[in-house]
Amino acid sequence: MRAFEFLAELDVKYGAKRHTIGDIYGKKNLKVPTAKYKDKRTKKQKGIFTESVDFTVTKSYKDDKGRTVNDMSHFGDRKDVDCWVCDASGKSPYYDDVDCDYCEGKGQRNEFVSDAPEMNVSNSNAFEIQKMLGLEPDYGGIIENKDLPNFMRRLIQLKNSDTSQYTEPGSMSGGKTGRYKDEEGNDRIGKTGITMYNMGRSDSQVKGYIDELLKIFKFAQDNDADVGWG
Ligand SMILES: [Zn+2]
Repeated sequence: MRAFEFLAELDVKYGAKRHTIGDIYGKKNLKVPTAKYKDKRTKKQKGIFTESVDFTVTKSYKDDKGRTVNDMSHFGDRKDVDCWVCDASGKSPYYDDVDCDYCEGKGQRNEFVSDAPEMNVSNSNAFEIQKMLGLEPDYGGIIENKDLPNFMRRLIQLKNSDTSQYTEPGSMSGGKTGRYKDEEGNDRIGKTGITMYNMGRSDSQVKGYIDELLKIFKFAQDNDADVGWG
């Protein structure tokens, strides 16, 4: 099942649940303290939650028990960087007058910063990228150093060919018009459930992935390393 289809299914369930809650715990019937929860995250902060597979350069070594370890953080260092949860403000993106708990109000965090090129994409795009490479898609994997030239040749071929088979048009689902009960229990006609947008994948996006992958593969080749994702 593709991620988008999963979300569309979730949409249906969520819509049904929302109506159940509306009937039993209607605003009018219960004096519940109003939570001051509000999502004040910027688009950039939200983006980080939706994209979830990293392609990067990895280095393999044997540990003391002789097992192979693929180290995704070999090329880089820990540094103090701006907190991505609060966008360095030190304030919670969810509550007024509360410190960000991810950086404890400091606005900065000590995090791993890669010196190697890396690319962060959504799960569905990560799967499509692996298909482009001729691989069986998975949430994590490694391409060993010795196999890099073959894959780089394939990427260069793809770059110069028609990549339309890897694109996907955007679409919209859910948010159907129907009958529902409002907070006062009156019948109304309107949008039920939430609307899901699938942003699709354009040809220029696919070409952009190929360029980024080539940088990652080249760096791995130059540094006697592998390419990994997860
Ligand atoms: Zn923070």
